[in-house]
Amino acid sequence: VLEVQGVHKRFGEHAVLRGIDLVVGRHEVVVLIGASGSGKSTLLKTINLLEQVDDGRILLADAEGRVTDVTDPRTDADGVRARIGVVFQHYNLFPHMHVLDNVTLASRKVFGMPRAEAEQIGLALLDRIGLADKAREYPDRLSGGQQQRVAIARAVATDPELLLLDEITSALDPQLVGEVLDLVRELKASGSTIVMATHEMSFARRVADRVVYLKDGAIIESGPPEQIFDRPERAETREFLRRLH
Ligand code: ATP
Ligand code: MG
Repeated sequence: VLEVQGVHKRFGEHAVLRGIDLVVGRHEVVVLIGASGSGKSTLLKTINLLEQVDDGRILLADAEGRVTDVTDPRTDADGVRARIGVVFQHYNLFPHMHVLDNVTLASRKVFGMPRAEAEQIGLALLDRIGLADKAREYPDRLSGGQQQRVAIARAVATDPELLLLDEITSALDPQLVGEVLDLVRELKASGSTIVMATHEMSFARRVADRVVYLKDGAIIESGPPEQIFDRPERAETREFLRRLH
């Protein structure tokens, strides 16, 4: 689905991504871990074209195997974004729209789906996440965990090829974290392809097919969660995990 090749990104003098190579297969869940400032969010932003790379390429392949070079300046950024669902740390719901309009907006405006059809899909999604009764509520009437679940529902409503999730639980009270994490596990079970950044190591362990440890803009170690958490091969990885305890 996704291939990141030798990506470099600097902000002024500061090299934030230093030669990132990452391949994400269909239905794979890849979790980025690493200290604050290691470049996790920047990497996710380059994939979604919110940041331009200085060097390297990012390729996105659709289900038919057609490959788009996301980093080619001639590539239509909106076309790429329409294929990728994104959820960030802070709920990104439109406050002036009720929940169902938030969830169906992209289907209607970007894909031109008739409202009735979009709402049918949107209501089914809300039902799946246990929020069908909130369809006509405005976001500020929902708890943080509920808002974040709606944000995820909105991101998957258009059936994107790839989901990017950046610290989606870090603004939530601990008791609300579980409900958002359960939803991500459900998405994984239903076959979504996900790249997510998180500081929740227990969650990374439970949901990841592969964990990628980033340090100072470089991938230090990458492997299944049992490798990274139970027998990391690199001293830097051990040191990072040890500091968390
Ligand atoms: P966190 O765990 O705190 O979210 P992160 O791994 O997501 O951290 P990034 O947000 O990718 O880290 O930031 C990496 C580095 O790039 C940081 O040092 C940050 O200050 C810097 N940076 C990020 N965005 C910009 C920007 N727009 N302009 C200048 N520097 C930036
Ligand atoms: Mg970040």
